[in-house]
Amino acid sequence: MTKQIKEYIPVVGKQLIDELYLVAGRLKRFKIQNINSTISGGGVAEILSRMVPLMKDLGLSVRWDALEAGDKFFTITKKIHNALHGMDVNLTDKEYQYFLDVNEKNKKKVAVDSDIVYIHDPQPIALITENKNRDKKWLWRCHVDFSKPQEAVWAFLKEFIQKYDTSVFSAPAFARKLDCRQVLVAPSIDPLSDKNKTLEQRQVDSVLEKYGIDKDKPIITQISRFDYLKDPLGVIRSYRLVKKYIDCQLILAGGGATDDPNTAEVLKKAEDLASVDKDIFILHLPGQSHLEINALQRASTVILQKSLREGFGLTVCEALWKEKPVIASAVGGIPLQIAHKYSGILTYTIEGTAYWIKQLIQEPEYAKRLGVHGKKHVANNFLITRHIQDYLLLFLSLYNESNVVDLG
Ligand code: UDP
Repeated sequence: MTKQIKEYIPVVGKQLIDELYLVAGRLKRFKIQNINSTISGGGVAEILSRMVPLMKDLGLSVRWDALEAGDKFFTITKKIHNALHGMDVNLTDKEYQYFLDVNEKNKKKVAVDSDIVYIHDPQPIALITENKNRDKKWLWRCHVDFSKPQEAVWAFLKEFIQKYDTSVFSAPAFARKLDCRQVLVAPSIDPLSDKNKTLEQRQVDSVLEKYGIDKDKPIITQISRFDYLKDPLGVIRSYRLVKKYIDCQLILAGGGATDDPNTAEVLKKAEDLASVDKDIFILHLPGQSHLEINALQRASTVILQKSLREGFGLTVCEALWKEKPVIASAVGGIPLQIAHKYSGILTYTIEGTAYWIKQLIQEPEYAKRLGVHGKKHVANNFLITRHIQDYLLLFLSLYNESNVVDLG
């Protein structure tokens, strides 16, 4: 359900909301346009689906368009994604050319007619038609951990990135040396969305009943797209090590994204590995299962995010917001969200993850403290209102460049 910005006053206070109105007032004459690769699935769509209506409610003229493309394009962009995460992938000249062709076609399909064009991630990066300092302002938002990219792919993308007025990264460690202005803006979750709002216990219980999950037995959960980089198979192996000592259940819940062509293959591998164990629940959820995901997170004893690579990892924030103890890999933006042994647990291996699952199930008071600290950290740093504020100030800075500190 669409929210109004005033509804956030009880969560973040009136002053911040007043400031949002103040800054938004200075941006009303500009048309703002977001372009990414999918309207459903993954963190970018999650954020835009919440943020665009709230910006409209602030009186801004904001649009959100997704690229029109098929599996062939998304197979290539998945390779690019993996290469940016440092994996060894081989992209051919034909694949690069196909990537450029699809971007070229989209220049006509997606009317790029706004004053501020905000391009998200590599898929639409080649939509940029002008160099910097022209009438339009072009921003490129990187949601990926860019710290150790494969050089060839990096060189290809860098040509485009440097045409933008500004590039935006989620964490200092992700940024690269570039000839354009760089700024840091952390992602966020929406505390009032169906995914994160408070639920009644009966709503949580009814989701458990629907899937035949026992609410009296510890529940370990990972919510993620079925993607190798989220390591669902590693999660099952960690759970197996715990299961030798503690009678518990595992939920692996998630769907795919229209820009991720590997979902079916990874899902099948997870199902094969899990098949003999009735305490493993592999739930392939449709795109808009926000209330169910909320309920599953709230029902969990421990939440995992055992990613091998990660951009930011919104699911960590979502779990912490629900005061859940989270065990997550120390990759990408996850260490920004978790201070080890204070607001969650950071691990590196299957065995380490299993060790900490056992500890947290056996020490509920300690687990609870981690969750309480985690929620405070999210409240202070990763809510959507702070995110909107950062973006509005960034947009304003595009027109006041002499006041800008160059972080490049
Ligand atoms: N998500 C969802 N349905 C799913 C799997 C994930 O709604 O089946 C949501 C999840 O709750 C989170 C986002 O998609 O809000 C995933 O963002 P994250 O940054 O964790 O990972 P990404 O998928 O972008 O790599």
